[in-house]
Amino acid sequence: MSVMVPSKTPARITPGRQALDSALHQLGQAAEHLGLDDGLRTMLATPRRSLTVSVPVRREDGRMDVVQGFRVQHNVSRGPAKGGIRFHPGTDIHEVTALAMWMTWKCALVGIPYGGAKGGVAVDPAALTTRELERLTRRYVNEILPMIGPEKDIPAPDVGTDEQTMAWIMDTYSVNAGYAVPGVVTGKPMQLGGSLGRAGATSRGVQIAALSALGHAPEGVTVAVQGFGKVGALAAQYLADAGCKVVAVSDVTGAVYAPGGLDVAALRAHVADTGRVLGYRDADALGHDELFELDVDILVPAALEGVITEANAPRVRARLVVEGANGPTTPEADEILAANGTVVVPDILANAGGVIVSYLEWVQNMQACSWSEGEVGRRLRDLMESAYGEVKSTAAERGLTLRQAAHVIGVSRVAEAHQMRGLYP
Ligand code: NAD
Repeated sequence: MSVMVPSKTPARITPGRQALDSALHQLGQAAEHLGLDDGLRTMLATPRRSLTVSVPVRREDGRMDVVQGFRVQHNVSRGPAKGGIRFHPGTDIHEVTALAMWMTWKCALVGIPYGGAKGGVAVDPAALTTRELERLTRRYVNEILPMIGPEKDIPAPDVGTDEQTMAWIMDTYSVNAGYAVPGVVTGKPMQLGGSLGRAGATSRGVQIAALSALGHAPEGVTVAVQGFGKVGALAAQYLADAGCKVVAVSDVTGAVYAPGGLDVAALRAHVADTGRVLGYRDADALGHDELFELDVDILVPAALEGVITEANAPRVRARLVVEGANGPTTPEADEILAANGTVVVPDILANAGGVIVSYLEWVQNMQACSWSEGEVGRRLRDLMESAYGEVKSTAAERGLTLRQAAHVIGVSRVAEAHQMRGLYP
């Protein structure tokens, strides 16, 4: 059952609205399974706070552009809100709300004391100079300043943002506070209080989730990865390091394919030099859509939402889909994959490594200490493996898919927190 919420749905159904519909559908299924009452369902379906801002940006030629920015705190019952900031031309309030909701369930599922949030700016960062990006970032942060803070809401990188963006955010917030506040963002450079192991954390979590779901030695297991950014490139690297054969990867410009296996380190060096996977000499070019239909063991979508749909799901041949991206599979595609026996390790589990190590970074910041990479890696592995085990056993006991089980666990923990706190006043 889907949860009904009042919405300002535009006449055109945007990808963002589709993502929010998917998130509401998943919540509705979990709420039905848990027997939650209507009031609680509606509360969980609606964000606690949403802010839309207009961000003026001075361009290099003196012109001023104005772009839309968003920050949504979906739920703060279990702790401060936590979630990345996305710079992408297609982002809108619906997409940011969906991403914030998924963060709420993800944090509850892996047992870290955060609620869910997300931010976004509808801009193409590749079309801006570094100085324009810095001005945009600082002005956006000023506009959302009342919402964020180390005890309130802690941003992190997402699509189109990185360590440098986090450094500018940390600086802007700190200048306003009058002293350095490293705990206001995670995914920062090491020099500003970042954590060892954060840069590769989401990808490490994807590797742990994929190998847990595989259930046998990874040698020779074939993998295709959609999206070769922060998450996808290192997920491909870590899976290759574990013995898998990564045969295809793509980015926004195209896809490359080498049936004998790609040298992922060499491909990453090519992308660092040229900015794109296309043109890598030891592989053939492949159509974007063909990547989803390859005869591989594991498919890792690591780009954007809504890419595995009812249109291409019947042609997915991978027996395991491990979601590095948030929301890559629509509910219709989920049903088709399940009917075909394809196991989907859902986003809120598979890509939780990022927020887990963000939490570890924040704990180090709040305690003014730093841990070794080994310590961070051990804690990440423990939390990932225990969440995977819980999801797997809940799915088996209750006859659910891994996604349904993950949502049942996450939603039930947030619902319990609401019930225990009670309603004020
Ligand atoms: P990124 O900006 O670093 O990389 C995105 C990649 O996707 C780029 O290589 C881009 O070229 C590619 N891409 C975009 N459109 C594409 C298309 N149509 N086909 C193929 N490739 C395409 O972003 P990221 O941080 O790696 O995030 C990727 C996904 O992982 C997002 O869904 C994000 O929400 C999710 N995620 C990220 C983190 C994190 O720590 N960065 C944590 C959890 C989840």
